[in-house]
Amino acid sequence: MRVLILGPQGSGKGTQAKRIAAAHGMPHVATGDILRAAVADGSELGLRVAPILERGDLVPDDLMVDLIRERLAVEDGFVLDGFPRTVPQAEALDSMLEEIEKPLDVVLLLEVSDEVALERLVQRGAIEHRADDEPDAIRTRLRHYHALTEPVVERYRAAGMLVAVDGEQGVDEVGADIERALGAVGARR
Ligand code: AMP
Repeated sequence: MRVLILGPQGSGKGTQAKRIAAAHGMPHVATGDILRAAVADGSELGLRVAPILERGDLVPDDLMVDLIRERLAVEDGFVLDGFPRTVPQAEALDSMLEEIEKPLDVVLLLEVSDEVALERLVQRGAIEHRADDEPDAIRTRLRHYHALTEPVVERYRAAGMLVAVDGEQGVDEVGADIERALGAVGARR
């Protein structure tokens, strides 16, 4: 199964993506994790993207597309988390999956208000000390989400691929809604 999970920062996307991956034995492909690992390694990629991540800005599309192309080419099923974040990234994803004849089965959207997202991110910042969970970077990231990623959501909604889930529920309730959505996909395949 090929699953894309969308939602603003603080929607619980990473948590739910990990649960889906574990429950279905599929890899969790999270571009934020890949980039943070590159920063921690001090690789060429890491050095280039570190200041971008710290500000809460977006890494250039061409770099992200190359990164994800390499990764998805070797996977049959996956939960994709953090990509695509812009319409050009979504177009690149759709055409690369079409090329290898492995289209997405479903696109999940975790819906939360900005207030809830902000509150959760501030809490996470206090616990995990992520450089980009600091107020200025959080505001920048949510601004990018509304301006650049919401059009991606609308693209998949128009294609009839989107299943929206109320992300303001507890972790288990959101997980149950997601499993119901995935069950429906499984039944269709
Ligand atoms: P995340 O963990 O998904 O919130 O990603 C952390 C940071 O990595 C983001 O704030 C961006 O700076 C960068 N990033 C992750 N995925 C992408 C993407 N698809 N396009 C551009 N930048 C990204």
